[in-house]
Amino acid sequence: MIKIEHLVKNYGSNCALDDISFEVGEGEIVGLLGPNGAGKSTAMNILTGYLSSTSGKASIAGIDILSDPIRAKKLIGYLPEQPPLYLDMTVEEYLNFCYELKGCKLNREEHLRRICETVQIGDVYKRVIRNLSKGYRQRVGIAQALVGDPKVVIFDEPTVGLDPKQIIEIRNLIRGLGKEHTVILSTHILQEVQAVCDRIVIINKGRIVANEKTENLAGAVEQVRRFRAKICGPQKEVLTCLRSMQGIAYAEALAERDGDAFTYFVESEYGTDIRKKLFVMLAERGWALIGLESLGMNLEDIFISVVDKSEEKGTAAAARKPRRTRNTKSRDSAEQDLGAALYEDAKRRREEAAQNETEDD
Ligand code: ADP
Repeated sequence: MIKIEHLVKNYGSNCALDDISFEVGEGEIVGLLGPNGAGKSTAMNILTGYLSSTSGKASIAGIDILSDPIRAKKLIGYLPEQPPLYLDMTVEEYLNFCYELKGCKLNREEHLRRICETVQIGDVYKRVIRNLSKGYRQRVGIAQALVGDPKVVIFDEPTVGLDPKQIIEIRNLIRGLGKEHTVILSTHILQEVQAVCDRIVIINKGRIVANEKTENLAGAVEQVRRFRAKICGPQKEVLTCLRSMQGIAYAEALAERDGDAFTYFVESEYGTDIRKKLFVMLAERGWALIGLESLGMNLEDIFISVVDKSEEKGTAAAARKPRRTRNTKSRDSAEQDLGAALYEDAKRRREEAAQNETEDD
């Protein structure tokens, strides 16, 4: 349904997109993931016909966006990062305006009613957009993208600035849209791609570094073996023991103390479940394991796992590599860059969202 072929975009001497190609099948929900400045918006702007590319081709249902923009744009609904709302209009006025603007031929009343039902804005239909919460404004933004019943819907960072409840609602909404539309969304949040998308395309510095089905991403996540262990016993000796135990790739003492118990961060080797062995080893030495909490992967780790997996698939002879620990120096520098950038970017956005929330209050 969407085909991007060897797309290049230069802004002067700055190369924003460096020969990217990918396809999105009909009814698929694909997430474009990457840190700030990766080239996501540029790709989306080219796809929606807002920007031209330096070279390469983008087409929707076989229609080239550059050579036949009107026909191609009829197939697209777009929600930019800042929803294009007229704040002084009511929702009703705005959606009718969008209906006119798009030259929509569908039965107006029935079509707008169905959209309002889908995005659940019926209760604010007569209200002025300025007075709506961010979550409702975002829904109205999604509603305008759906006017004309486009085959393809494109969302640029659809959950930025929303509170956790609104995020879940919008994600469910997008997931539901996948039943009738082909959806492409950009995000910097891996969990969002996991929750919503069938496939993930990771982009960094204008290049695609991974193109994976989400279940493969989930597979990578399941192999996580990171724990926070609370152990009673002398800290130095316990740590030495942990570090020498077979199956443990990395261990460090954390600055937490609870009586005679210290807390440690422990990471096992790839594919190894160390929990029982760890328990027995500690019991044999008379050190009580009084807490063992499984930790999720951070963005950096998940990204590296995804890249590891695609590398493994690419080379039949490739032996399964041990899982890379946070301190391993052998990590490819491009991956390291991206992992760090993703992590920093997510942190920055969280801080911004928290700041916005405080301002809203
Ligand atoms: P993302 O959406 O992933 O944050 P963008 O597509 O906005 O990334 O940006 C990709 C790169 O292109 C960045 O280096 C950015 O600074 C640059 N860029 C984006 N828009 C322009 C522009 N209008 N003029 C010059 N450089 C731009």
